[in-house]
Amino acid sequence: MKKIGLTGGIGSGKTTVAKIFETLGVPVYYSDDRAKKIMEFDHDLISAITATFGEEVYVDGKLQRKVLANIVFTDPERLAELNKLVHPAVGRDFRAWCEGMSAENAYVLKEAAIIFETGGHKFLDQVLLVTCPEDLRIERVMARDGVEAQAVKDRMARQWSDADKVKLADHVIDNSPDVSLIDQVLALHKLMIEQQ
Ligand code: ATP
Repeated sequence: MKKIGLTGGIGSGKTTVAKIFETLGVPVYYSDDRAKKIMEFDHDLISAITATFGEEVYVDGKLQRKVLANIVFTDPERLAELNKLVHPAVGRDFRAWCEGMSAENAYVLKEAAIIFETGGHKFLDQVLLVTCPEDLRIERVMARDGVEAQAVKDRMARQWSDADKVKLADHVIDNSPDVSLIDQVLALHKLMIEQQ
């Protein structure tokens, strides 16, 4: 069973692409959702977060997301510290999730906003990158999240550019309006199964 990464910048459409793969029966691990969950139940991770960021980050065993966000989103070094704790825990959780999957699946997908940035691609068989023109990504995130363009641009500025990620990706999925997204997913699905 191959482990395939699926990544892309903010608003590129990686979740949308993942949902199309799911309709084809491909199991998808959503890293951000799982990260949020394991921060609530992985005891080792909770202890490490508490030791690093203070007891006030958990109240009665419940993560105080706003307290933690206030600490990490104003200080890139503190955000890096949090990522250093959360990413290995997500890696462990992903491996356990894969073990629970039937070997009949030719491949599984790991959807994550960050893969190349953390060297995560070294632990995956291939990585698919979703790209989309920046102005469209900004427009779509503004509509989806009800935020200002500048907020999207600020988050984009903290991510790698598509040009840097394209160099490392095995396949690129172009989510611009003039290309069929579904046709690209179907072609890649066929390829993944043939390469099994
Ligand atoms: P994030 O990194 O912020 O989680 P993402 O890469 O997962 O974003 P999506 O949430 O899949 O991106 O897409 C962003 C928005 O654009 C969503 O509202 C989605 O419905 C919309 N969208 C994505 N692809 C298309 C498309 N091909 N046509 C129309 N809308 C699209």
